[in-house]
Amino acid sequence: MSARALFLDRDGVINVDHGYVHRPDQVEFVPGIFELVAAATARHWPVVVVTNQSGIGRGYYGDREFRQLTDWMRERFAERGGRIEGVYHCPHHPHDAQPDYRRACPDRKPEPGMLLRARDDLDLDLPGSVLVGDRASDLEAARRAGVGARLLFDPSGTESLPAEGGVVRIRTLPEAIAWLD
Ligand SMILES: [Mg+2]
Ligand SMILES: [Zn+2]
Repeated sequence: MSARALFLDRDGVINVDHGYVHRPDQVEFVPGIFELVAAATARHWPVVVVTNQSGIGRGYYGDREFRQLTDWMRERFAERGGRIEGVYHCPHHPHDAQPDYRRACPDRKPEPGMLLRARDDLDLDLPGSVLVGDRASDLEAARRAGVGARLLFDPSGTESLPAEGGVVRIRTLPEAIAWLD
């Protein structure tokens, strides 16, 4: 039976989006993120990170640094009872990237490619799943993939909701726990 998953954007949801974060000393975890991931793990919901990382394509840091930071983050979650099941990233950008990375990639949000790959790799039930993102592109990727619950993390309460509808605004990350039922 396919599993329902908690999908998380990274920058702005897991860590404060300081712009092209790629080293542990740049990571400031968003309040409530450990509580949310631990709650999903306790409920046996796989947690899957889906993150645009055009900083790689732009040459600001490498794939290796991204993976090292990912391993470090996984350890921080494990210390607090959380398990990150999968991490998907897109290093591409359609215009602002070095030639090898310059393309319109079906993985780059708002395209749904990373979500669809996670579904296939981990046997996930997307209509039963939840995504938390801080940008319209996150929510649009979730909509295109058919993710059932799309939550906009908007601590200031000032972001406008997408016109397509169906998006729920949350002001704190632990509010998302109510969706893991
Ligand atoms: Mg973000
Ligand atoms: Zn890509």
